[in-house]
Amino acid sequence: MTASPETLSDIVIANRILAYEEVVDAFGHISIRDPANPEQYLLSRARAPELIEADDIVTFAQTGEAIDIGDKRPYSERMIHGAIYEARPDVNVVIHNHSYEVIPFAVTDVPIRPVTHTCAPIGADIPVWDMRDKFGETNHLVVTMEQGRDLADTLGDRSIALMKRHGCVVAGATVQETVMKAIYLQVNARLQLQSMQIGTPDYLTDVEIAACTEMQQSPISLDRAWEAWCRRAEKAR
Ligand code: MN
Repeated sequence: MTASPETLSDIVIANRILAYEEVVDAFGHISIRDPANPEQYLLSRARAPELIEADDIVTFAQTGEAIDIGDKRPYSERMIHGAIYEARPDVNVVIHNHSYEVIPFAVTDVPIRPVTHTCAPIGADIPVWDMRDKFGETNHLVVTMEQGRDLADTLGDRSIALMKRHGCVVAGATVQETVMKAIYLQVNARLQLQSMQIGTPDYLTDVEIAACTEMQQSPISLDRAWEAWCRRAEKAR
C-alpha cells in the first residue's frame, strides 16, 4: 500500500458519506485511481461502506487482480472500476451504487434529467446500460473485464451511466465532485418522480444546466457541501 494518509482518509470518508446519505447500503463502492501508479486503483475489501477503515483499503491492478489483499475478500464487481479507469484517463474516482430511488429511471424509458439547480451537475445525457444486450440473462453483477468494458463503452465520455435493473456508475476527476454527483443523482430521481406524480416537470435547459453546474462545482459550493457531508457522516459514527 503506497497511498498517502490523505488519499486513504479521502476514500474512507467518502464511503461513510455515501452510506450516511443513503446512496449506498450494505452494497456499493467507491475507488480512487492510485496517485502513485495510474494503472492501479484503491478500493476497500468487500465490506459495507459505513464500516470501512483505512486498513480495509486494497490496491488493485486495472484488470482486477488484488496486489496486497492478503486473506481478505475483494468486491465481486471491482471490474467496473478498472474498466472505467482503463477507458478514461481523465477519471480518478469511480462510484458504483444501487440507489433505489434511481432504479425507476433504470427500468423504464423515462430519461432522468435535472429538475433543480443543485442537481445540474448530473447532466442531461445519462445513458442506460443493459447487460442483457450482450450477456443475456445473468445475475446482473459485473464480474469480468469484458462486462466492465461494455459498461465503460456505454458511459463513453460522460460522468454517469445507469445500469438497467441494477444501479449506476458515477465517474469524475475528484472525490468531492464525484460524491456530489452521486448524491444529487439520487436527490434528482426523488424530485423528478415526485414532480411526475403531480404534473409534467419543467426541466432545466441545457444552458441552465451548464451555468448551474459551473456554480455547484466551484469551491464556494463544493467545499461547503463537502464540509457539511463530512460533519454529518462523522456525527453518525
Ligand atoms: Mn452492483
